[in-house]
Amino acid sequence: MNMPVSVVENAEESAVESVMESAIGSAIGSAVEPAVKIAPARRREVALPTPDQLRGYFPLVAKLEAQVEHQRHAIRNILNGADDRLLVVIGPCSIHDEVAALEYAQRLKQLAADVSDRMLIVMRAYLEKPRTTVGWKGLLYDPERSGQGDLNQGLVRSRQLLLNLAATGLPLATEALSPFAMDYLGDLVSWTAIGARTTESQLHREMASGLPMPVGFKNGTDGGIAVATNAMQSAAHGHHHPGLSARGTPVMISTEGNADTHLVLRGGRGITNYDSHSIARATHALQQAGLNPAVMVDCSHDNACKQHERQQEIARDVVAQRRAGNRQICGLMLESFLQPGRQNDGADLQYGCSITDPCLGWEQTKALIRSL
Ligand code: PEP
Ligand code: MN
Repeated sequence: MNMPVSVVENAEESAVESVMESAIGSAIGSAVEPAVKIAPARRREVALPTPDQLRGYFPLVAKLEAQVEHQRHAIRNILNGADDRLLVVIGPCSIHDEVAALEYAQRLKQLAADVSDRMLIVMRAYLEKPRTTVGWKGLLYDPERSGQGDLNQGLVRSRQLLLNLAATGLPLATEALSPFAMDYLGDLVSWTAIGARTTESQLHREMASGLPMPVGFKNGTDGGIAVATNAMQSAAHGHHHPGLSARGTPVMISTEGNADTHLVLRGGRGITNYDSHSIARATHALQQAGLNPAVMVDCSHDNACKQHERQQEIARDVVAQRRAGNRQICGLMLESFLQPGRQNDGADLQYGCSITDPCLGWEQTKALIRSL
């Protein structure tokens, strides 16, 4: 089980090619015995590496471990008001091309350094996509986008990518969708979202209560915030739930509870909730529930009615509210990639353009961030 390790340890060495150069192909086959067998009707099983095995092949070196810990702490400081910088979670809706993701990270790293006196920039490194019905579920599940799924390859490529992105020095954000994924990748993540479709899910609340980093709960898909405030209360408590040990055995997990959670306002079907009235209502509800009133505004998704250009005016509006005195606005989320808009997946893909939600392009992103 010798899996080659190609972890880049500093930004200078993080050549875009390094992700692709690694012998992913040969690594995957040896990750586990590809024990394909017929299980109960309607399912097929393929063995995966254990979290310990994957982390052993692609370890988090001490320097990066300290970096992630420092970044989580910096985000906590913003959430609890000790640091009044704006938290900005920004990047592609989903990553389908590691080379483009690394190029984006290298540009974002420079921009983040330029504005670090007033913003803490965290890159979206989203590897799992929740779908309203069906569709591509992200690099982790189906890295070749064949529709067949390949979690062995997806785990390897996702972990390698996160290591290479972290090596730029940027803090990383992701959405935690499968309760197992964070066991393999969570040590590289500084901020986690629970998405609008899963904020109401007990499994996701249990998972969040045991996660080591700050967690943002999106409001529900209908635009209502009660499911998110309920989720924050639930996640703050300890839970007992079934799960996977680092060695891959089934275990009962007992969690401590996560106090570092906050609300993310993302609008809902036909509803936007980034205006001052909606934000005041949300912070009041959070206070009534005894929760942290810090809110992040997702400028994309239903707030932007999926029109990526609108993110710019929403971000400016929200930052103006903050400047006018609303310090409970702690952050922004933006969907941004190298090229503006989106494209359907297919044979002739444009480099650096989203295949899920539409994104601001790099030039728009740079101008917007500098103007805030
Ligand atoms: C996303 O952030 O890309 C996303 C899927 O968000 P939401 O859960 O708000 O739809
Ligand atoms: Mn999206």
